[in-house]
Amino acid sequence: MAWPYFLDCDRFFAGEQEGCHDPLAPLRARQEVAFSNLSPDEPSTIIQFTYHSNAQMYSVLKRTAAKCSHISRTYSIGRSTEGKDLLAIEFTDNPGGHELLEPEIKLVGNMHGNEVLGRQLLLYLAQYLCSEYLLGNQRIQTLVNTTRIHILASMNPDGYELAAAEGHELNGWTVGRTNAQNLDLNRNFPDLTSILYRNRRIKRFRTDHIPIPDSYWFGKVASETYAVMKWIRSVPFVQSASLHGGELVISYPFDFSRHLHEERMFSPTPDEQAFKQLARTYADSHASMADNNTERCGASFIRSGGIINGALWYSFPGGMSDFNYLHTNCLEITVELGCDKFPSEEELYPEWLRNKEALLSFMESVHRGIKGVVKDEEGYGIKGASISVRGIRKDVTTAEEGDYWRLMNSGTHIITASAKGYSKVSKRIYLPAHMEKAGRVNFVLKKDQEPREPGMGAEGQEKPWWWNYFTQAGVSAPTWLLRNF
Ligand SMILES: [Zn+2]
Repeated sequence: MAWPYFLDCDRFFAGEQEGCHDPLAPLRARQEVAFSNLSPDEPSTIIQFTYHSNAQMYSVLKRTAAKCSHISRTYSIGRSTEGKDLLAIEFTDNPGGHELLEPEIKLVGNMHGNEVLGRQLLLYLAQYLCSEYLLGNQRIQTLVNTTRIHILASMNPDGYELAAAEGHELNGWTVGRTNAQNLDLNRNFPDLTSILYRNRRIKRFRTDHIPIPDSYWFGKVASETYAVMKWIRSVPFVQSASLHGGELVISYPFDFSRHLHEERMFSPTPDEQAFKQLARTYADSHASMADNNTERCGASFIRSGGIINGALWYSFPGGMSDFNYLHTNCLEITVELGCDKFPSEEELYPEWLRNKEALLSFMESVHRGIKGVVKDEEGYGIKGASISVRGIRKDVTTAEEGDYWRLMNSGTHIITASAKGYSKVSKRIYLPAHMEKAGRVNFVLKKDQEPREPGMGAEGQEKPWWWNYFTQAGVSAPTWLLRNF
C-alpha cells in the first residue's frame, strides 16, 4: 500500500521543492562550519574509549564527519519519541547519494536502549574509518571507496538515557530497553513473516517486497520504528547488522517461527545459505564468538560456531530483521555482542579489539556474490526489475539506475532478470569460491512486442491459416475456434 505518512516532511530525505523546509538548516550549516574549523588541529587517531552521552555522541559524529568531510557526512533519519535526533553517519567516496553499482550497507546499534556496547563500538568504528582513511590505510580506503556505509549508532537514545542513569553497576535486564512509550522496537515492525507463512502455499505469492498491511498503522508505531522503515525504504541496502547484547551469538532470520506454537523451531528463509555465510563472516572474525568452548550466557540453546537461526533460538514477531528481508532487498543479521548488556568502561577497549576485525570483514563481505545492471535496449537502467535465482524463492529488485546486488554462495546458478513490459532474460553463471569481488552479470531486456489486438487469443499460440481473414477484415476473430489447434 501507499506510505500513509508520506506527507510528513522528513527533515532529510524530502527536498524544499516538495514543500518541506527545515527552519534550522541555516543554523545547522553554521554549526558544521564551526566543527570543521575545529578539526584540523586535533590528532586524528585518538579515540576516547569511554561511554558517550547523547550530546557527546552527536558531537563525536559531527566532528568525525567534519574531519573527513570528503568521505563522510551526518544526516538525521528522524527523531525519537522524546524528540532526539536519530543521527546517522555515512562513509563513501562521494557522500550524499547512491552511486551506480556501489553497494550500500548499514550498521545499527542500541535498538534496545540498555544494550549499549554496540552503540559505543559503532562510534569507535566511525572514528576509526575516518582516521585510518586519512592515514592512508589501504584496506580502509578500498572499503570506503567501493562501498557506501551508513552507521546509526543509537536507534533508541531515549532508552539509553534511562539505562545510562543507572550505569554499569545497577543496570539490569530491562530498564531502558524500550523506547519512551514503552515499546520494544524489535517487536514493533510490521509482521510480514506471518503474512508469508499464511500465503506460502499460493503458487504465485511473492516472498519479496511484501507490502505493509493497513492494519499495522492502527497499532502503535514508534517514531523510531517509523524513521528506520522510511530509511530502509529509501536506500537500496544490501546487508545490515543490528548490534545487541545479552548473549554471545549471531542470529539470522527468520526470527518468527514458522509454526505458531513452536517457540523454538528452525525457520529458514529462502536465502538460508547466504544468511549463514553472512553470520559466519562476523562470528569467525570475532575474537571468541565462533569458539564452541566459550561460555555462553544463557547457554541452553543449540548453536554451531556461534551462529543460530533466530526462530530456533526463540521466536518473536515484528522484528526488524524479518522486516528488512521481506519488505526490501536487505539481509540483516543480529549481533549479540556478549553477556553483559552494560559492560564496565574498562571493557570498552578490549571489546573494540575483539570486534574490530569482525566489523571490517562483515562490511567487506557485501562485495561477495553477484551484481550488475539491468538496462533496456536504449541503454537506460530499468528500476524495479526483478532478479531471480533458480532454487531461491526470493527475488531482489533493481535500484534507481537499474543496478542490483545479490549475496550468493559459490556454484552454478541460473539468474533471470524480468520487468513489466519487457521479455525476461536468463543466464547461467558460475561463481567461484572465495571470490574477492562480486561477479558482474548485466542484462539487456527487450521491450515486449506491441500490445496485441483484442481477440488475438492466448499469447504465443500458433494461429491457423485462415486467421488473417478475420483480422484483416476488421472482424473480431473467433477465439473459441482456436481450441483445436
Ligand atoms: Zn536486544
